[in-house]
Amino acid sequence: MSSPYCAGNWKMNMNPQEAVQHVQALLVQTEKLDQSCFLLFPPALVAADVATQLRGTSMRWGGQNCYHELKGAFTGENSPQTLKDMGASFCLVGHSERRQIFGETDDLCSKKIQILQSVGLTPLLCVGETLAERQSGQTGDVVLRQLRTGLQGATSTVWIAYEPVWAIGTGLVASSEQVAEVHSLIFKFLHEWSPQSASTTPILYGGSVKPNNAGPLASLAHVDGFLVGGASLVANDFVQIQQAARV
Ligand code: PEP
Repeated sequence: MSSPYCAGNWKMNMNPQEAVQHVQALLVQTEKLDQSCFLLFPPALVAADVATQLRGTSMRWGGQNCYHELKGAFTGENSPQTLKDMGASFCLVGHSERRQIFGETDDLCSKKIQILQSVGLTPLLCVGETLAERQSGQTGDVVLRQLRTGLQGATSTVWIAYEPVWAIGTGLVASSEQVAEVHSLIFKFLHEWSPQSASTTPILYGGSVKPNNAGPLASLAHVDGFLVGGASLVANDFVQIQQAARV
């Protein structure tokens, strides 16, 4: 796979003005880089502002979440079709905050993946174990269950992000050994699932990635880039992470 990907999950941060300023700063700082390696996941309320700024560039964006139907009486939800119409390329599915705070299940992730693919959006499925699951030796089982159920019914490529729940927003980063082990497991699963597409399916790592820890993690086999939360809110840090991962 070519340049490492750097995906920024802004979570529930940035108002329209901040979002526009942030994207403009990113576009300036990445002017001489391959902008297609940068993916932005803004909150739905500022997605239109981000889409306007990115029009005509190769930097892509996606939704942080969507509903598993295209339209109808689902007050407060976001339609995958609308995301597509607005110019999105991706949508996160199964981020640990959705799973833990909003009770989203593997079956729901599977429905979201299928509807996203039906409108031509690429799902980015987040998988990962909690601290208790890791400590009780269940990491592999949890990740494989999330992949197996999440990908059932998928018809084309689903990007994957391995995000150990205990490393998200905590400052704790998984060790190189831990990341290498789980990324190899994910690659092996993808290879059995679809031998033709496994080697071109990006597998990102997420969990407290910063400019100073991106390099060593990016050099591991089957790490194709990062899903970044906190550090994606600072343009310079976000770009530095992608640059650190390149070498
Ligand atoms: C995330 O929200 O997906 C994430 C990895 O957050 P952070 O980088 O802040 O740990």
